[in-house]
Amino acid sequence: MSFAIGETGKIMERREFKSIGKEISLLGFGLMRLPTQGQETKAIDYPVAEAMVDEALAQGINYFDTGYFYHDGLSEPFAGKALGRHPRDGFLLATKLPAWLVDSRDGARRLFEEQLSRLGTDRLDFYLFHNLNAGHWDMVERMGLYEVFAGLRDEGVIGRLGFSMHDGPAHLRRVLDGHDFDFAQIQLNYIDWESLGAREMYGLLASRGIPVVVMEPVRGGALAALPGEAAGKLRDLDPRASQASWALRFAASLPGVMTVLSGMSDPGQLRDNLATFNDYRPLGQAERDLLLGEVATSFNLANPVPCTGCRYCMDCPSGVNIPLNIAAYNEYRYRASMDPKRGMAFFGLYFASLADAEGAENCQDCGECQDRCPQSIGIPALMRDIAGLARVA
Ligand code: SF4
Ligand code: SF4
Repeated sequence: MSFAIGETGKIMERREFKSIGKEISLLGFGLMRLPTQGQETKAIDYPVAEAMVDEALAQGINYFDTGYFYHDGLSEPFAGKALGRHPRDGFLLATKLPAWLVDSRDGARRLFEEQLSRLGTDRLDFYLFHNLNAGHWDMVERMGLYEVFAGLRDEGVIGRLGFSMHDGPAHLRRVLDGHDFDFAQIQLNYIDWESLGAREMYGLLASRGIPVVVMEPVRGGALAALPGEAAGKLRDLDPRASQASWALRFAASLPGVMTVLSGMSDPGQLRDNLATFNDYRPLGQAERDLLLGEVATSFNLANPVPCTGCRYCMDCPSGVNIPLNIAAYNEYRYRASMDPKRGMAFFGLYFASLADAEGAENCQDCGECQDRCPQSIGIPALMRDIAGLARVA
């Protein structure tokens, strides 16, 4: 453990792993939810986003994570431009290969070259196979892509080779048995710790000494907007701590975690997160028990479908707004658990406010969205259920 003193004189917590050989800020900047030029566009608001990158660097964040298709392909060029204004050895850059977009080793190399060009660099400090679930793993194996990128690692073009994954522990074991990886990026937060197998996945990686990059520590922002009861319990414990800070500290307190990625969307979020890591305190046992116990129970009651709002399932060819329907469904279930009439009344009002094509009743059961959901939510069946509810609401 060490610290980096930023230009402001504040101290950012950093960790170093022997196998990685670099000091990495415990807070990493995920470049997938940057401020945009409007609500309906993925076009990045450069002045605001660049100022956030500058502030992050000045305060000691040195790990930046992007992906080929984040912001509909605009995140990598943004990272290249925003970070390109700073000395290259002052930050660590990570991006990912979407194996499903290539059909051969040559295709993968071409895509990698395109990424280097977008990012304005001749090397990547960290490179990941993106969402290496069972289907994508089969593609990687069939094309022999591990060997391609392990070769680039040997040449020094890639610093460390890893993967991100939303699959379960059994598949993770298969991947780890298959090849040597330097690090792994998994979804880990106090809600998914038990329900989505995060505890077991973390344990597996820790037992093999593989450093963990945490994604979705705040579960797409949901753990920064807790239902009233859960929020009250945390407020009682520390009225000054933000809800997001509890979620970030939960992930960061685990030994073996290399960095905790936060997809920050505005300067306020950045500053709140910086405050957490510039005055970092590992979670105590009583705090941890509260998060995993009463707070998680209360959250799960309010959010029975584990949708993070990532929108990977979109766009639906029939125009269904999948995450919005699921958010409405979760809210309905929460209200109905307290008063069934209140639940149905909410549902009726909510669906009346949706644009015509957005409603679940427009789902044609084509299945296109299914494989794209990292949480493995049975979307078509859920849309059928929601449509049924909307009819009687
Ligand atoms: S299964 Fe339904 S919700 Fe999913 S993409 Fe097809 S029409 Fe849209
Ligand atoms: S349904 Fe799945 S893919 Fe779609 S927004 Fe929710 S978590 Fe993301």
